[in-house]
Amino acid sequence: MRDKDKEQEIFNNKSTVYGPVKSWRFGMSLGIDPIYQTSTCSFNCFYCQLGQIQEVTDLIKEYVPTEKVLEDYKLVKDSGEVIDVITYSGSGEPTLAANIDEMIAGIKKLSPDVPQYILTNATELYRPEVRKRILDLDCITVKLDAADEDTFQKINRPASGVTLERVVTGIKALRNEYKGKLEVQSMFMPLNKKNLDDYAKLLSEIKPDLVQLNTPKRPYPSEWHRENRGNHHKIFDYNVTDLKTLNESEAKELEEYLKENTGLSFLSIYR
Ligand code: SF4
Repeated sequence: MRDKDKEQEIFNNKSTVYGPVKSWRFGMSLGIDPIYQTSTCSFNCFYCQLGQIQEVTDLIKEYVPTEKVLEDYKLVKDSGEVIDVITYSGSGEPTLAANIDEMIAGIKKLSPDVPQYILTNATELYRPEVRKRILDLDCITVKLDAADEDTFQKINRPASGVTLERVVTGIKALRNEYKGKLEVQSMFMPLNKKNLDDYAKLLSEIKPDLVQLNTPKRPYPSEWHRENRGNHHKIFDYNVTDLKTLNESEAKELEEYLKENTGLSFLSIYR
């Protein structure tokens, strides 16, 4: 296939399954998109790789039928792609999908040996029924970019009614109920680098198995396209904006400070 044709195929992707993309930690990660139709999230993070979120909402409902996800998954599986891990993420917040538990169970049946992970912004984990839907996953990664409400509002720009306190309450409740691996993922930039004492305190209370320290190295696209789900490169011709990041030595300093003050395990994007 010519490069141009390959680009068009990615750009016009009509599947709820995307990739696999090479993950810096897990090998070939196949993405599952339980949202799919538009970008829909309870956050509108200013660094989001999807660009400006079209529907900023915390409405939980079925966004895409489970059957479509399973059919799309079967097609990729049968094509012989190498799949090391499955990750629920995609066009927004995956726990907004009321049927995510059916997707997890359906894919488990088709590929019992492939671990299943989720990346969630944790806004809905305060609801017991949402936590219950994802307890069978092998790893849950929750986003935590701020330790105070003001910074939280500036970075994550959440849907009305969503607060940092609600997010933290949900994460702590999950920590008590969930037997799998719980990780925290934080995006650091100049804006949230200051309040580190409170951030370290929050981490110590949550006690995740691992903390991933990121910085926004992917550019912010000017518009949403479904291919933003897995695209790590500027290969299409819409505008993108590069964001302020932490450099390697700033990230190292941050990691050392947090290690010392929490005793937890860390992974940095620079390593
Ligand atoms: S939580 Fe994820 S999908 Fe939602 S706006 Fe933030 S980065 Fe984008």
